[in-house]
Amino acid sequence: MDAQLSIDDPYTEIRDAVAHLCAGYSAEYWRELDKARRYPTEFVQALNESGYLAVLIPEQYGGSGLDLGAACAILEEIQKSGGNGGACHAQMYTMGTLLRHGSDEQKSRYLPRIAAGELRLQAFGVTEPGSGSDTTRIRTRAQRQGDHYVINGQKIFISRAEHSDLMILLARTTPRDQVGKRSGGLSVFIVDLRGAVGNGITIRPIDTMMNHASTEVFFEDLKVPAENLIGKEGEGFRYILDGMNAERILIAAECIGDARWFIEKASNYASEREVFGRPIGANQGVQFPIARAYAQTEAAALMVSKAATLFDAQERCGAEANMAKMLASDASWFAGDTCIQTFGGYGFATEYDIERKFRETCLYRVAPVSTNLILSHIGTHVLGMPKSF
Ligand SMILES: Cc1cc2nc3c(=O)[nH]c(=O)nc-3n(C[C@H](O)[C@H](O)[C@H](O)COP(=O)(O)OP(=O)(O)OC[C@H]3O[C@@H](n4cnc5c(N)ncnc54)[C@H](O)[C@@H]3O)c2cc1C
Repeated sequence: MDAQLSIDDPYTEIRDAVAHLCAGYSAEYWRELDKARRYPTEFVQALNESGYLAVLIPEQYGGSGLDLGAACAILEEIQKSGGNGGACHAQMYTMGTLLRHGSDEQKSRYLPRIAAGELRLQAFGVTEPGSGSDTTRIRTRAQRQGDHYVINGQKIFISRAEHSDLMILLARTTPRDQVGKRSGGLSVFIVDLRGAVGNGITIRPIDTMMNHASTEVFFEDLKVPAENLIGKEGEGFRYILDGMNAERILIAAECIGDARWFIEKASNYASEREVFGRPIGANQGVQFPIARAYAQTEAAALMVSKAATLFDAQERCGAEANMAKMLASDASWFAGDTCIQTFGGYGFATEYDIERKFRETCLYRVAPVSTNLILSHIGTHVLGMPKSF
């Protein structure tokens, strides 16, 4: 079934409400956080209190049970306001692994408290230094010993681990050479970080080009109760993949918000700034890239909308989720570069916020999946060309 796209935006109310909340967090607020590399605790708390991070949690668990399209609208508005939803977007999609594959007992234990903002589920532990994009090669090992698992290994670039109570962790429960399929033998756990730091977990911050609270996480004989295994042992890769479509679509929506922020800044400035006795935007060399950025953003937004519509209809959406993420991150990157070119030297001055937003949006051409890996997915899974790996 093909997605039916609506011309009317069903999310205008939620967009207006989120824009109103974001107006309380000025450009200075985000600039200062970036400078100090500080986590936006107050902003995340405000989103939690307003229920925005719980929109995807069903009403029976205390959330508002809205669809992915609504979650996309929320994240897009945050980015469009000049803020950075990267500080908390994971709470929306990591929860899906628990919701779709967790037991009733796990869902009742965690989801109402996550929805109420009492428990933070902001950390998602997949990437490892030795595996890179080839997730099936992760080496973090979880070994069953009686009523618990003992976990040893290392994760890298794990965002927000210091600002989360729980982590969704992918670990190997059966060695790769003992499973028929390379994606077999991986399992997902819900790890309670409270009390574990210093008792089996060490977290080391990684300084990155944007304020993203990224860390290295080391596991040394960490004991996790067997009841914290999500779903069946060995099936974890499938569960994680399942959640990745939501992650890609939501991050694509953030890129659309970023692109719209850049385009508005650039078009306003191009209309006002006079050089050689006329607005710079009257020169087509300045005007056309902004117009191109706008067209690319609108096209990418349609793909985001299509992917979210398919996801919400529980249709297959792997190709669309990947294409949405690639097109939107390319569009925001191009809009950001165009904005810097339009502002000339001022684009580099921190007080204009453009260089910060540009640094922030750059991430999404690489994470959570790189452009090359998406092209490979399209080439092999969609177009049926030969695989390289
Ligand atoms: C700030 C930040 C936050 C992050 N947050 C998280 C997080 O919270 N949780 C988490 O699990 N991970 C996180 N990541 C990790 C992120 O998902 C990975 O960096 C990303 O998936 C790419 O993996 P890699 O860095 O190992 O690159 P590699 O896999 O080493 O790839 C390097 C380059 O080679 C290319 N490449 C690799 N193989 C091929 C191939 N076969 N064909 C063509 N090109 C190829 C890639 O496209 C890429 O451009 C984060 C990363 C960053 C930078």
